[in-house]
Formats: sequence, C-alpha cells, structure tokens
Amino acid sequence: MQSYFDTLDNKMTGLLSEMIGNNGLQINSITISAIYYEKYENLIDRSAGHRLGMAIDIVGVTFKNRKEDAFFDDPNNNIPENDSVKAVFNWLVGRNDVKDVYTPWQIKSGTYGIKMSIPNVWSTDKTLTQKRYDLMFGHRNHLHLRLY
Ligand SMILES: [Zn+2]
Repeated sequence: MQSYFDTLDNKMTGLLSEMIGNNGLQINSITISAIYYEKYENLIDRSAGHRLGMAIDIVGVTFKNRKEDAFFDDPNNNIPENDSVKAVFNWLVGRNDVKDVYTPWQIKSGTYGIKMSIPNVWSTDKTLTQKRYDLMFGHRNHLHLRLY
C-alpha cells in the first residue's frame, strides 16, 4: 500500500492534504479506489495521468458536518447528484491546479478544451461520439481527478 501511495506526485499528496484539512469541506475520510495504472479500458489518454502520479480515482467521501456522504458509485446514473457530491466537485474545479474532474454526474475536462462542466449523459444521450461516450461511461462509478 505504501509503495502505491509513493507513486503519487507531491502535488497530488499536497492536494489531498489540503482537501482533508479544508475547513469548508470538513472531510472525515476519502476512499481511493485507484492511484497508479497504465491504462483504463479504451480511453483516449490511456493512463489519464495515473502513470504520472497526477491522478487518483475516488469512490467515496465522508464528512464531519454533512448528513449525506459523497459516494461516486452510481452504476446506472439514476441517483441525482447530492449536495455533498456537488461541494466536492465545485471545490476541485475551482482550483487552478486541477485539470480534469470526471464524476457520474458532471465532467470538467481540460483535456478536451472544456472549461465549464458538462453533464455526464452516457445513459441518456444516444448522439454522443464514441470518444465522448467512452469518457462518460468510464466514469459512471467513480470520481477521476487529474492535476496539471
Ligand atoms: Zn482515473
């Protein structure tokens, strides 16, 4: 476990420390499902920052002061994004060092030149390009975070 954590760039461990210590978020715990891997299914950027230590995948966040915990594990995208999920998403995308934040509900991407977030509509939009569908479907069950 320690060796996997050591693959993270100092910028990412710094961000996690700030996230946990942030008085506004009041985070109790963060459940990380993946740190390092070479490729993820058939995404365009096959390492998506993970090989560089600049990305992590999160499946859950609990809080000291919120009723609802944030779980990024909705396989069918039928559960609405709750306020806790939105708070985490908004905190992340408000930072200058965050490149990509993909969740089952929203996609904010620097990779594809998207400055504003767009809804994750893999299950409802039948007109998506294959690339866009793969990006959205690939993040139906976790939050992917990548730094610059
Ligand atoms: Zn990821």
